[in-house]
Amino acid sequence: MTASIPKTDRAHAELRSVFGFTSFRPLQEPVVRAILAGRDVFVLMPTGGGKSLCYQLPAILLDGITLVVSPLIALMKDQVDALQAQGVAATFVNSSLDSLEVGRRQAAVARGEVKIVYVAPERLMTPGFLRLLSSAKIAFIAIDEAHCISEWGHDFRPDYRELARLRELFPATPVGAFTATATRRVQADIVEQLHLESADSFRGRFNRPNLFYKVLPKQSADHQLISCLERWRGASGIVYCQARAETERVADVLRRAGFGAAAYHAGLLSDDRKNRQEAFIRDDVRIIVATIAFGMGIDKPDVRFVVHYDLPRSLEGFYQESGRAGRDGDPSECVLLYSYGDVAKVEHFIAQRPEPERVVALAQIRRMADWADAPVCRRAALLSYFDEPLDDLQDPCCDVCSDPPALDDYTVAAQKFLSCVLRTGQRFGTAYVIDVLRGSKENERIPRFGHDRLSTFGIGKDVSTEEWQHIARGLLMGGFARRDEAAYNAVTITDRGNAVLFRGEAVHLVRPRRAAKARTVTPRVVAPEIESLPPERLAFFDALRALRKQLADQGGVPPYVIFHDRALREIASRLPKTRQELLRISGIGERKAQTYGDPFLECVYRRTAGSAGSRWDVCFPTESRGHARWCAR
Ligand code: ADP
Ligand code: MG
Ligand code: ZN
Repeated sequence: MTASIPKTDRAHAELRSVFGFTSFRPLQEPVVRAILAGRDVFVLMPTGGGKSLCYQLPAILLDGITLVVSPLIALMKDQVDALQAQGVAATFVNSSLDSLEVGRRQAAVARGEVKIVYVAPERLMTPGFLRLLSSAKIAFIAIDEAHCISEWGHDFRPDYRELARLRELFPATPVGAFTATATRRVQADIVEQLHLESADSFRGRFNRPNLFYKVLPKQSADHQLISCLERWRGASGIVYCQARAETERVADVLRRAGFGAAAYHAGLLSDDRKNRQEAFIRDDVRIIVATIAFGMGIDKPDVRFVVHYDLPRSLEGFYQESGRAGRDGDPSECVLLYSYGDVAKVEHFIAQRPEPERVVALAQIRRMADWADAPVCRRAALLSYFDEPLDDLQDPCCDVCSDPPALDDYTVAAQKFLSCVLRTGQRFGTAYVIDVLRGSKENERIPRFGHDRLSTFGIGKDVSTEEWQHIARGLLMGGFARRDEAAYNAVTITDRGNAVLFRGEAVHLVRPRRAAKARTVTPRVVAPEIESLPPERLAFFDALRALRKQLADQGGVPPYVIFHDRALREIASRLPKTRQELLRISGIGERKAQTYGDPFLECVYRRTAGSAGSRWDVCFPTESRGHARWCAR
């Protein structure tokens, strides 16, 4: 009996035996401890950070049921399948089931036979379900994708609003909110609406070290897309387009180029949408060309690339969408095809919107364009938008870092700009500051505020407006200054900017593109390779993948539910011979080794026993019986 061992110590054992992981990811352990101690938690972790484990692991150890509120009915089954494959008693209740099945599952919940119940918010808040819960022992309520509760987020779901009542209904039950949103406004909204003011709060870093960022000047987009995807043949990926019709066209272009691709957008019949999503998750279709209607809640771990064919509407949107690549931690690529034409198109579209909305949307698209324009490290610029310093630069990290443009010393210009920001009170946007620097006669606000009497008035006459804009962008992206969203994008000075003004720190920026003569050829920049296997092992890896696909189809689960690519790669390189050796591979816990291990071990056995030079590109089940039937040459 394990009852005498403290739960927190058992957490490590479960991590290993159920999930097959040797160590926690950052923040997972303290979150698990807090939940086990009965605390409310607010957990902010980037996509792929491993939020699910934060509530799934305590659920196994806590006395009672853990409810998981999740927005996407279509994906609950996969999550539950994955848990069941790990030997966890999990179930889901939603409108995809008939009433008989719902009744059966609810009865199992009432009898306390399950540990984890996934439920959609609209179902949770029905009188019938609430009644069921009042008679069951609820240990913890996890609200996944908690940003759906906020109207300020881009995934607002009215049904989530109702969850605000949970605290009155279950005053004694600890609640946890889990989200990847980078917006402070949304974070504050979640805390307020779910009454998590006194919750233990865990905020992870936004940096995604395994993602490689690349911005390509959009010229012949279809060709660029195809040449980007060429190196990822056989891998899963998402291509985001702005318009529905465009998704269909681009999917067609890809199919003609020999890629397995399908379009996805909100205009499809719901059955079509479901089928295509499922085909993607099950590796039947490798590439989805979609509008942003696609992606949230899709936990597919091995998405190797996300391409933005069109300009995203905000940097936050770009971060979330591109972040769907590489959840499994393996190297993955995020590409943006960028053109000034696209910016103009979006701005034109936004200009027709009503007032308050328009101002916000314009500010967001400006930031997006600034990011794409500024030839500074993409990762550093993205993180500085979220106020996160980048202290450990990965190598290589983005197109700019791998092919750095020449830098010039801009210290004096930066000092002029920043001191003008300071003297005008850090209350104005870049355009106004530049007008003051250039001593503009046209801007009548300048004399009104008395800024024509400042010592910085006109000290930047000799530099063109465009070049000042370039400098301003460089300072913003380099973290010397920032835009205050809450105050109409007024520019304010950061600590780093103060170091330039008062402590003589130097500023090096790239020359503006025009002066530097725009690069005509796209630099050949590629993301780092996934840990490479020798060609012969690679063929074996493909064979293992084929076997996994076969088992997955038979079991009606997505392939990644069986083993992740990383586990297969490890099998291919380490060639485990026993279950014990199999258990040492990352992501393989006891239950999975038991359920799925043998066919893979058999494959390894066949391979090592096979004569030298035997080919391993086929590894399919045959009609023969028993153990060996999984692996024939
Ligand atoms: P999130 O919900 O935060 O986006 P997930 O919970 O879907 O992230 O987890 C992302 C991936 O990380 C999954 O494939 C999961 O198996 C893996 N993972 C989670 N925790 C660990 C860990 N401690 N060690 C290794 N892999 C992990
Ligand atoms: Mg998640
Ligand atoms: Zn970089």
